[in-house]
Amino acid sequence: SGRWAKAAAIVRELEDKCGTPIGKLRQVADAMAVEMHAGLASEGGSKLKMIISYVDNLPTGDEKGWFYALDLGGTNFRVLRVQLGGKENRVGKQEFEEVSIPPHLMVGTSDALFDFIAEALKKFVDTEDEDFHMSPGRERELGFTFSFPIKQSSIASGTLMKWTKGFYIEDAVGQDVVGELTKALDRVGVDMHVTALVNDTIGTLAGGRYYDPNVIAAVILGTGTNAAYVERAHAIPKWHGLLPKSGEMAINMEWGSFRSSHLPLTEYDQAMDAESLNPGEQIFEKIISGMYLGEIVRRVLCRMAEEASFFGDTVPPKLKIPFMLKTPDMSAMHHDTSSDLRVVGSKLRDVFEISNTSLKTRKAIVEVCNIVAVRGARLSAAGILGILKKLGRDTLKEGENQSVIALDGGLFEHYTLFRNSMESTLKELLGEASETIVIQHSNDGSGIGAALLAASHSQYL
Ligand code: ADP
Ligand code: MG
Repeated sequence: SGRWAKAAAIVRELEDKCGTPIGKLRQVADAMAVEMHAGLASEGGSKLKMIISYVDNLPTGDEKGWFYALDLGGTNFRVLRVQLGGKENRVGKQEFEEVSIPPHLMVGTSDALFDFIAEALKKFVDTEDEDFHMSPGRERELGFTFSFPIKQSSIASGTLMKWTKGFYIEDAVGQDVVGELTKALDRVGVDMHVTALVNDTIGTLAGGRYYDPNVIAAVILGTGTNAAYVERAHAIPKWHGLLPKSGEMAINMEWGSFRSSHLPLTEYDQAMDAESLNPGEQIFEKIISGMYLGEIVRRVLCRMAEEASFFGDTVPPKLKIPFMLKTPDMSAMHHDTSSDLRVVGSKLRDVFEISNTSLKTRKAIVEVCNIVAVRGARLSAAGILGILKKLGRDTLKEGENQSVIALDGGLFEHYTLFRNSMESTLKELLGEASETIVIQHSNDGSGIGAALLAASHSQYL
């Protein structure tokens, strides 16, 4: 019928606009490498901030003692306590707790957010048991993983440049987030010193390097997306300080803010961006990461409902609510292997109150999920190729070590079809050079990494 033809046309158009043929991915990778150069050349030289992390030594394995870490990244935050045992024992005991952030605190005041965090930390400190040990007279030390763009001024200070991922706390912008956290720790009465401020990508890089010296980069695919890598210090023209002894510096790319005319964008992306808290920003992140994939699918389904009466004569009201479809639910529909697509059916009922969907309808929805996920996965692979190109590691060289890329984040970890598509696309892009490139899942590397960096920057060294 006409309805079906119209719905099918919307899906075909989506597929066409989201197309990522290999030539386009190479253009994206080249553009990424060009922007990396520009961002390293001068402050504000590129959409890519290429932030100097002040981490010029990654963990060696010698780190020892009990350390805390705090990971604030998106919807949850985690507090960790780990016992570092040096080269012999690596990570001994580790304990953590995860706390979800009440939505009103994501758009409230700096004090309210940091007090909430400090309170949670206080409760966690109270659970120290007899294994925990600190030398007398020492303060507890904490590595703070803060996954928003920070202009670092040292390893333990940095001002917030802007919020992303649905956070918008105006009075925190321009503030030193370590100062904000420290004041809250004082207010709440927690005896703890923040010795390292790191981005989650830097933490993941450090955590990955702790176990494998061939780790050269880290990529996060979670609520948002970002990457970090190890750069030669002399290849950072905007760095005017002394060259570090190691000759290296970890760079937080903030690749979520990458944009390029080569990116395949659709009307759905444009509308979502325009209505977002940060219009015109984080364009790469908005087509790749977990916060947005489900929302893009919802927008497509909404248009199908409006223009092709895809769900009957009226548009189901819940379908019109922004961010109603979460990426884990999209992923569950996408992975449905049952013959009648019953997971799709039940998600439509539970999320949107749409019942009695036909198999044909469900199949079309799976196709929409696939188109949106595959675009994001293939573009993340192109981003990784961009980093490898910048480092000259995208081609096979005699005697070259393996290049290991530490990957983390809920999207990578749980969205299997996304992950498979990203990995196979990277292989396809690299050709024979893919033999020397390894994607390594670094499970919670960022928390351990922050604790490691807290240890290597301890005030007692
Ligand atoms: P954050 O990025 O907030 O630090 P995570 O790395 O744990 O936290 O990523 C959480 C995000 O991962 C969620 O917001 C969601 O978008 C995505 N995610 C979690 N579980 C799944 C899943 N089963 N399928 C797809 N995406 C998922
Ligand atoms: Mg995280």
